[in-house]
Amino acid sequence: MSITATLSANLALEEARSPEARVAGAMRGFALEIGALSAFRMESCIHCGICADACHFYIATEDPQYTPIWKVEPFKQAYKRESSAFAPVFRWLGLKKKVTADELEHWQYLLFDSCNMCGRCSLICPMGIDVSALIEQARHAMFEAGLAPTELYEKAANQKRTGQPEDSAEPYRDKLLAIGREFGVEIPLDKSDVEVMLTVPRTDIEHYPKAVAALARVMQHLGVSCTFRSDGLVAENYGYYAGGKEWQRQISLRLIDEALACKAKLLIVPECGHAYTALRWEAADLYGKPLPFKVRHVTEFLAEQLQLGKLTLRTAETGATTFHDPCQLVRKGGVTNAPRTLMKAMGVELHEMKNHGAFSFCCGGGGGVVDIQRAAPLRYRAMENKLREVDDTGASTFITSCSDCRRTFDDARSHFNWEKTPRSLLELVADNLAGTAGNAA
Ligand code: SF4
Ligand code: SF4
Repeated sequence: MSITATLSANLALEEARSPEARVAGAMRGFALEIGALSAFRMESCIHCGICADACHFYIATEDPQYTPIWKVEPFKQAYKRESSAFAPVFRWLGLKKKVTADELEHWQYLLFDSCNMCGRCSLICPMGIDVSALIEQARHAMFEAGLAPTELYEKAANQKRTGQPEDSAEPYRDKLLAIGREFGVEIPLDKSDVEVMLTVPRTDIEHYPKAVAALARVMQHLGVSCTFRSDGLVAENYGYYAGGKEWQRQISLRLIDEALACKAKLLIVPECGHAYTALRWEAADLYGKPLPFKVRHVTEFLAEQLQLGKLTLRTAETGATTFHDPCQLVRKGGVTNAPRTLMKAMGVELHEMKNHGAFSFCCGGGGGVVDIQRAAPLRYRAMENKLREVDDTGASTFITSCSDCRRTFDDARSHFNWEKTPRSLLELVADNLAGTAGNAA
């Protein structure tokens, strides 16, 4: 499907825009997004190209268009033409040409299909430029110009309106209760005056119900006063993926309002990497003040319970095992030790990949890429390197702590006839609970 074709749904939902109007919208958006920090970042680039070697899309193809900093080139051109100290000179001498509609459509492909917002390039840049943050800002401008990919736009629109990314799906509240019945675990729902509010990845609801049951089971075992909330269930934030900042804010507000309504002091993000970034780091900014509760990833919470002596675990018979670090957890949240602490407590024989922890490669599906159909061929090329790293460990068991990573690897399993089955760390914990329940939170 061409990029122009993918715009059709966006345009059906908004007023139809001429190519010139789209360019003007994007340039306005770019100019609005460019603050002092972004300008400083762009001016600091010494064009060394090192970030290319961090990006799996470039590594897989050696195509210069996948160099991370190149992906924000229109953003940079808009800055030079509109906002930089020498903008009048650039315009007068025609040194920075106007970006065309065709170029912008191509950049949709570079900013969305070929970037997982994984942050590996930001980690490696010798000038400390946060390239993935620039890409996130550029996505905001593309969204404003009606240039977000259709799949992400529609899911974000649905989630903003109903709380569920899939409009036609059975209400997640009903699915959640059905999962409780199927796995024989009580699902705490719509309680008030609790310590902890639980959220759930849409991916688990639709693909991995055992992980949903595992979260409820572990909390029940720990004796935590907690609840899911019908009106604030979904952890993912498609506004974040699509670049719709205001939509992202409204989706986050839904969870914030529910956490306030049930008086939770802690909101637990389940096994979902991007949900962690959206809630842990960006929600307060969009809310306009500090969140009145803490936000923790479920592995952080469980590792803390372990260290407090409130959680004890049995030995898990996993054999030689390797672990995939979700990018948003290790690079944006520093959640590197928590999963290893849990695996150690279960006696897991861990064989690390060549690139693990903060330098782990993305699964290839992050940033909404797994939802963009036309991106699949490039995504498969990019993830070959990752699958090789997994295989090179010689491990027979493969674990991760993000359900979107799990779905991406599961998809690779059928595409490549890959023999590994990605497993959930949370499910492994739930299967190996030991001792009696306590009063954890
Ligand atoms: S590594 Fe940093 S300085 Fe070098 S090209 Fe990339 S963004 Fe520019
Ligand atoms: S954030 Fe990740 S996928 Fe995107 S350009 Fe940087 S290294 Fe590549």
